[in-house]
This record gives sequence, C-alpha cells and structure tokens, in this order.
Amino acid sequence: MTIIFPIKLAISNAFLLRGEKNILVDTGSPVDFPILTRQLGKHGIQLNDLALVVLTHVHFDHAGTVAALLQSAKCPVVVHRLEKENLASGKNAPIIPVHPLGKMLMPFMGAGFAPTFADILVDDALDLFPYGVAAQVIFTPGHTPGSLSILTEDHQAIVGDLCGGGWPLGQFQPGNPRYHYWASSMEAVHASLKRVFASQPAQIHVGHGGPLDGREASQFFLES
Ligand SMILES: [Zn+2]
Ligand SMILES: [Zn+2]
Repeated sequence: MTIIFPIKLAISNAFLLRGEKNILVDTGSPVDFPILTRQLGKHGIQLNDLALVVLTHVHFDHAGTVAALLQSAKCPVVVHRLEKENLASGKNAPIIPVHPLGKMLMPFMGAGFAPTFADILVDDALDLFPYGVAAQVIFTPGHTPGSLSILTEDHQAIVGDLCGGGWPLGQFQPGNPRYHYWASSMEAVHASLKRVFASQPAQIHVGHGGPLDGREASQFFLES
C-alpha cells in the first residue's frame, strides 16, 4: 500500500509517497525549500531518507528546489527525456497560455530556478517498485511536452499540472476539476487524461488545488 501525503507549498503541491521507501514527487518553487524540509520533517523524513525525486514536469514551481535538495539528498532525480535540458539549464519548459487567466499571469511565469542534472530519464514509463513504492511513472504530455504522472497500484494518481482543482490556482473550491491555464497541446492533454483514467483512479492529486474525486473528474474531462 502507498500512502500519499500532499505537501502544500507557496503556490503548488509536492507529494511524499510512502511505501517500503519514501519518494518525493515535485519540489515546489525556489522559495519553498524551508517549508518543504519542515513538512518532510513532520513526517519523520530527512532529505537523505528519500529514495527518489520524481518531477512531473520542469516548471519553476515544481522543479524549483531540486538543486538545493540534492545538497543533502543523495538520491536520483527522474525527469522525462524531453525536459532534461530544461532542468540542466534552469529554464521552464515552454509555457503556452490556453485560457485568459493564463495570459494574465504570464508576467509572473518567467521565473528561472537553480539548474541541476537528472539521473533517470523516462521515455514511456518507469516502474517505481525498485525504489520501494508500488507505482508506475507514465508519460502524460500536454501541459508540457515531457509531463509525467504517477499511478499507484492502489488506484491513486498524481498528475502534476495535467489538470487542476479549483481557482485561480487551487485557492478556492480545490476539489472542482478544471483544465489548466497553460498547455503545449490540448489534444495531448485529452489523450493523457484518457491514459490516466484508464487505470480508474479513485483519487487524483494535482499540482495546484485538489485532490479530485476520480469518478467526478472522469465525468468532467471525458464526458463533458
Ligand atoms: Zn506547470
Ligand atoms: Zn504548476
């Protein structure tokens, strides 16, 4: 069984996955390092207890503290092959607004972050069992070209920014499913949502707001 602990950061969520070992999914923005380490500490986790860090995608609000974390955490970092260079240069994967609010927020979205190198590059999927958690990382492009999601064996999903919950960035009605304000391809977003819902997740954790009820979200995204 995998326990998912959401960690609320300044503008995004990171997640601690607890199975036999501990995996961190996403790391927040550059200002989040102290909150993140404090929240992990509340779960009894020091940085060197992490078996793996998985980045759902390379935007500053998800990959912003990886370089700082790696000063103490000696674990591998996982990213999709298409976003390896973004991580290595500290530059966001392309941010393309698909909603008026996305356009309005663009001036705030250019932030960079401290660069670092990925150790494991995903193409289509990665089994997390060797890292102590009964889950798979799968390729779910759409928000960015190299976005990843995590599906646990017990039907929970973490999808990063493939979709969101609530508005503007999850502060209100966080359980209401919604499309994100930025996407590299809406066609890819739909195909990736189908891939996620094919595993019939009971609960969906998102990068901003959430969590979403799996059945409600499936109706919202696939049937409306
Ligand atoms: Zn993003
Ligand atoms: Zn985000």
